[in-house]
This record gives sequence, structure tokens and C-alpha cells, in this order.
Amino acid sequence: MILVVNAGSSSIKFKLYKIENKTPVALVEGLAERIAVDGALTIKRGEDKYEYKDQYDNHLMAVNSILKHFKELEVIKNENDIKGIGFRVVHGGDKIVKTVELTEENKKAVEDNIKLAPLHNPGALTAINAFQKGLPNAKLVGCFDTSFHQTMPKKNYLYSVPLKWYENHKVRKYGFHGISFDYITHKSSEVLNKKLEDTNLIICHLGNGASMCCVKNGKSYDTTMGLTPLAGLMMGTRSGDIDSSILQYMAKELNLDIYELTDILNKQSGLLGISEISSDMRDVSNAALNDKNPKAISALELYTQRIAEYIIKFANHLEGKVDAIVFTAGIGENSIITRELVIDKIKILNIKLDSSLNEQNYEDYLEISSQNSDIKVYKIRTDEELMICKETINFI
Ligand code: AMP
Repeated sequence: MILVVNAGSSSIKFKLYKIENKTPVALVEGLAERIAVDGALTIKRGEDKYEYKDQYDNHLMAVNSILKHFKELEVIKNENDIKGIGFRVVHGGDKIVKTVELTEENKKAVEDNIKLAPLHNPGALTAINAFQKGLPNAKLVGCFDTSFHQTMPKKNYLYSVPLKWYENHKVRKYGFHGISFDYITHKSSEVLNKKLEDTNLIICHLGNGASMCCVKNGKSYDTTMGLTPLAGLMMGTRSGDIDSSILQYMAKELNLDIYELTDILNKQSGLLGISEISSDMRDVSNAALNDKNPKAISALELYTQRIAEYIIKFANHLEGKVDAIVFTAGIGENSIITRELVIDKIKILNIKLDSSLNEQNYEDYLEISSQNSDIKVYKIRTDEELMICKETINFI
């Protein structure tokens, strides 16, 4: 069995797979949360949901509680059933270019990158150490959101700031959502029946956080997020790209410091900032479509315009040889109006959606472009846990 873990500073999200004939089959998934507050654990098995209240003073207590309840539910017989644990880690910096075994040296790299991902890497590292104690015989594997983008050429990852910022302080574009982009790239090459190394894609990962990836010959060539996940597209609560002088200007206007202003760009901007309704696309699109709310309409316009502009930029990177544009994650997979508005805003390429296919229910993927479109468009459900599980199997 393989356990996939996505941990934060106070929570551990997990999914347990049994490997049958090299194929992962999900057994249970769940969430241990409120670590160091009190403690709550939910385990879902198919339609059944089990809820527990244990006290978690730290991540190790949560890990032990998860294992105890796995045994009670007879999901595992003992700890040795779990041969590998795949961790999602947000930032691997420029040292980690692929999935790695979490040796002491690679754990040190996660620690060194805390400076670059202060909100994400500490939780992952604490969880890695806790699972290492709780399951000492399992192989620990790290999958990094940044590593997929390490193939980007310098011209796409350097910022036009003093070069010393890059050389001495590691300021560069890293990009995120790499596990999802990796999964979608593999899935798309299967669906398109093309070799991975011949696959050219524009992937729009539109969730609460959102970014896009230009995949050239199966590898990341460019992406929209940057040093941090604040850059690029407009998101649920993040601004995406703005003129950086706005910070200085608004610091004076509002008498706020750089930390408070950056917090506003991360948490009170994007769909929430413009619509003044919600950060959730369902709320914003309902208000735009049903109530004709002007602020919600404006939020949708800004949101989809930015994506269309990046599609054009990335199509240029690919010299027009785009095998498919793929929409994925919560909004990309589900929001009919977002896909429609994005494609409608592309004026210099002949890309057409089939509106009934755009609206149609689907299992894991569906082609939604019309017969006369020059570029195929798909909606594909991403599965980051499955990607991490498969990567972990490779180390066992
Ligand atoms: P994620 O971060 O991938 O879970 O995506 C969260 C976003 O997906 C939120 O903005 C949700 O409003 C959006 N979302 C989920 N389901 C739908 C849906 N059926 N229609 C429109 N947006 C959706």
C-alpha cells in the first residue's frame, strides 16, 4: 500500500492506495485537522464517513491516530502494510528537479526552501518527520510542485531585476501546480495518442489558486506563477500580476506596511476583490449570470481576459503547434461560463467550442472543441494524489 500525504501546519490530508497488478486502487481518504488546537479526524471509505475526536498536540499524535483508526477499520493489518509514503511538497527551489526519496539531504533542501515558501514547507517538513517516526519502515518520497517547471529556459524564468537578486537570493520564476501539470501532460498524451516528448499543450489549472503551463515536447516551457503563487492569473483571492509600484503607492495612501499590503494581494484581491461578493467562482458566476450583478460581471471579464492573453502568449511559444488547450481543477473542470468566455476572447486564433460538449457531463475527460476549431480543447479532471502515488511506486 502507498499513502499519499498533503500536510499543512495544522492539518494532514491523506489518501491510501492498494497497489493491485501495478495499478493503484484508492481504499480510504481523509483529513486530520486542528493539530495543536484539539484534534479532529475524518476518514472516508466509499460512501461511509467516520469521524473521531482525538487530542493532537503535534503531527506525530495525528499520525499515530490515523494509523490506529486504519487498524480499527481493518484497512491495514499493521504498519508494515504501508510500503511507501508520497508527500506533496510545495517548494523544491532550484535543487530539486524531480521526485526524490526524502533522504536527510533532500529533507535539508525542503528546510532550506522554507524562506521561499514560509506558509507551506514547514508543515510538510513536520509531517515528514512525524511519519518517519510513525512508520519507520516505509520509504518516504517527496513530490514537489516546483520540480516540473525546472525545465523552463532561463529567458522564461529570469526577472529583469539586478542579476545579483537571482545569484545571491534565488529570485526567479519557479512556478507551482507542477504535480497537476505533470498528471495532465501524461493524461493528455494518452488521450491524444501522442508520445509524451511530442506533446505540446496549454494547460489552464483553474482552482482557487490558478496557474497555466506551456508544455513543449512534454516539458514545462513557461508558467504563469513566479517566485511565489501570487503571480500570473487572477485567482480566488490573489491579484495575479500587477504593477509592483502599486505597493509603494498604496503604502502611503493607506499607511500600511509591505507585509499588510502583500497580505491584501494574497487574501482580499482576485475574484473576491473585484466582485466584492465571494472568492468562489460558483457565487461569482451565479451573481453575474442570474442577478446580472455588474461587479460580478466585471470580475468574470477580468478573470477570463487574463487567461485568454496567456493562451495567446503560450501559443506563440509553441509556434502555433498546439496539440490541445486543457482546462482543469475546480473551475477549469466545472465552470461552463469560464471556458466559454476564455475561448470567446481569443481573436487571433481559430478556436471554437462545441457549446453542448462544453456543458456535457463527463467522467475523467472530454473534448469540447467543435469540428471546425484549429486547436482541440479538452476538459480533463486532474488527480494530484494519483500522480504522487504513481511517482512513489517508482521508488519501491
Ligand atoms: P479547487 O481549488 O480546484 O478545489 O477549485 C475551487 C474552485 O472551483 C472554486 O472557485 C469553486 O467555486 C470552483 N468550482 C467548483 N465546482 C464548480 C462548479 N460546478 N462550477 C463553477 N465553479 C466550480
